[in-house]
Amino acid sequence: MRSDLDLELVKLTKRYGDALAVDGIDHLFPAGTYACLLGPSGCGKSSTLRMIAGHESVSDGSILLGGRDISHLPPAKRGTAMMFQSYALFPHLSVTENVGFSLKMKGTDKATRRKRALEMLELVDMTKFADRLPAQLSGGQQQRVALARALITEPQVLLLDEPLSALDPFLRVRMRGELKRIQRELGISFVHVTHGQDEALALADQIVVMNNAVVEQAGPTREVFDAPATSFVARFIGAHNVIALPEGKVAVRSDALRLTAPEGAKLQGQVIAVEYQGTHVALTASVSGDQEVTALLTDKDFFGTPRNPGEAVGLDWDGQAAHPLRA
Ligand code: ADP
Ligand code: MG
Repeated sequence: MRSDLDLELVKLTKRYGDALAVDGIDHLFPAGTYACLLGPSGCGKSSTLRMIAGHESVSDGSILLGGRDISHLPPAKRGTAMMFQSYALFPHLSVTENVGFSLKMKGTDKATRRKRALEMLELVDMTKFADRLPAQLSGGQQQRVALARALITEPQVLLLDEPLSALDPFLRVRMRGELKRIQRELGISFVHVTHGQDEALALADQIVVMNNAVVEQAGPTREVFDAPATSFVARFIGAHNVIALPEGKVAVRSDALRLTAPEGAKLQGQVIAVEYQGTHVALTASVSGDQEVTALLTDKDFFGTPRNPGEAVGLDWDGQAAHPLRA
């Protein structure tokens, strides 16, 4: 199935009446990448995904797959497939029949349908449930069936909208490992919508952070994490402090902060909370300008020189650990 087609959004816009849900976003998803659209509820992620899938009309701009404008093609003609948040399996059809359903619509014969469906079920590790009905499956298993059903159409791009949100935390972590494995195995692009930064960090080669209908920052996952470009991204991606200095705002990773004596440190503050987290200790201090800053210290570093709430501390970091933020 491997894909060598890039997916490109050009000034893609969605309006619902007067409301602007997606405001002219430009982004290139290189072929074969696992991309996460990350952002808070209501920022326009699902609208973007549904426009790519063809389940929502494009108000303005375009969607190109391998240079071909697919913006106005019906969903089945785009080379994309969508896995729905509600798995929407047919209750009266067996797992195999559900997976083979789109081939039936295309007029593929029964033996070929079954063979292809079983290949997909093997890929998602569901072979032994092939003859069950959806009601006889757990939520996680139904999800695997939905995934197989989307993949049988051999899409170049698989679109997933919050695919893990209905699963319990244990299954969620297991299933995200499976999604990553399947994406690697197939070599196609996945565009996965989530509001969870941990999910995006765990899965994505590329992260596209959205806020208020626009792309706030996009790039390789570690680059976005290491150098958030805006206060919003720094806060949303977590594990960063946004610190206002006379020369402007910077983001500094919590694990890049060191505790020192107050004299000569970049910031002077007072410890307000100490939280033991097992391998690490999160120490929060209030510093001048009514700011709170959190340092994530290894347990060894912290307990080498323990601090208590109320103590004066200095907070320091290496110059290159501070990333200037755009407004
Ligand atoms: P997200 O998936 O990031 O939560 P959505 O794309 O679902 O965001 O929604 C973006 C904005 O568009 C929200 O303000 C939402 O209320 C609005 N919206 C979404 N779908 C519709 C619709 N069918 N009709 C009107 N407004 C909508
Ligand atoms: Mg959504």
